[in-house]
Amino acid sequence: MNILLLGSGGREHALAWKLAQSPTLTTLYAAPGNPGIAQHATLVDLDVTDHRAVEDFCLRHAIGLVVIGPEAPLVDGLADNLRVKGYPVFGPGKKAAQLEGSKGFTKDLCKRANIPTAGYERVHSKDGAIAALPDFGLPVVIKADGLAAGKGVIIAETQDEALAALDTMFSGAFGAAGEEVVLEEFMSGEEASFFALTDGSAILPFGSAQDHKRVGDGDTGPNTGGMGAYSPARVLTPELEAEVIEKIIRPTVETLAAEGTSYSGVLYAGLMLTDEGPKLIEYNARFGDPECQVLMMRFDGDLVELLLAVAEGRLADQGAVALADRTALTVVMAAKGYPGTPEKGGAIGGIEAAEVGGARIFHAGTAEKDGKLVANGGRVLNVTATGDSVGAAQAAAYRAVDAIDFPTGFCRRDIGWREIEREAR
Ligand code: ATP
Repeated sequence: MNILLLGSGGREHALAWKLAQSPTLTTLYAAPGNPGIAQHATLVDLDVTDHRAVEDFCLRHAIGLVVIGPEAPLVDGLADNLRVKGYPVFGPGKKAAQLEGSKGFTKDLCKRANIPTAGYERVHSKDGAIAALPDFGLPVVIKADGLAAGKGVIIAETQDEALAALDTMFSGAFGAAGEEVVLEEFMSGEEASFFALTDGSAILPFGSAQDHKRVGDGDTGPNTGGMGAYSPARVLTPELEAEVIEKIIRPTVETLAAEGTSYSGVLYAGLMLTDEGPKLIEYNARFGDPECQVLMMRFDGDLVELLLAVAEGRLADQGAVALADRTALTVVMAAKGYPGTPEKGGAIGGIEAAEVGGARIFHAGTAEKDGKLVANGGRVLNVTATGDSVGAAQAAAYRAVDAIDFPTGFCRRDIGWREIEREAR
């Protein structure tokens, strides 16, 4: 079978690596891909916002499955347009992708389905927001409704910070994403991510992970797309995982289906483990990046079979997802300047030497220039390793990091620190 994979990040490199291992695969195409993905796929120049062009490509290359990596094409309705033409697609349609595309949509769904989450109010003007603020106390969480690449959330500690945040939100800084704002009650606890595949009816857990959003060691500095992750997140015990499925994932899938919006793809739940139990922070409609990289390092099954079963509504026939018990950990190497303006063009060497010990280097923002690998984005490489514990996986990942020659790059040195502290106890 021929498969088309859309995306160009470390997430898609990890997916390409696993898809390429399936005996069912004939040719893997990737658009736009990156030099790492090119090791497993034929890269094609395809504008994913041009749905007709994607359809034409699928027809010309007898594509039997389209795997959509990032959120933007999902929220844009690409999956619907391909499904109408008869192509199996891994990823939800436009309406179901609102779970990621509109925070207000998700909060309203939580209310209808009685899903544990922070109290909230949707507001459409600065005056409306100011009138609602006293209901929330401090700190208060202020979010742009739409997609804002992880930058549309402000936790205001004081009234002045809240007013300044509302000024920014309603100033047009976030475009259409900021026309509506969601005010939320602040929840305290440890965060974890949980993944589940669903075809709109059956649900198969796909493991847990913990991300590291801040750019600096000790969780300091500005937020990023994610500086590293490990899986499983043992803080999400089997009991808590069962609670997440029954109180959060299942009511989401069932309520959407009952309302005529079947969700097909992976549900990525961002969770806060509060004293009152796990609560939903947000949903994403795709695999996390870099969480996907650690999940793929643990996945021992046939990814083509599994994603096709989701796309064709046959998930109920599949056994549990084959996830090994080993721990996987990934360290993001970013280009200096990230998450501000990253330095592009820095030379990268030593990848092969770094992979000698069983580590895998997934490419994110890389490019090839005159036959040499260079940095071409903020997050550049995902250095990923496995071990019997988070400590062992971390040691292996940093050994690989140290074998890489990337003078204009940097990384955090403490990925997995929470769990390593727990392991030490
Ligand atoms: P991203 O795209 O980076 O995942 P996002 O912009 O979609 O983020 P959220 O995940 O909703 O936004 O929030 C980002 C972060 O803000 C969360 O990971 C969490 O640390 C914090 N946060 C969000 N909502 C709350 C809340 N109600 N209480 C406490 N912290 C929160």
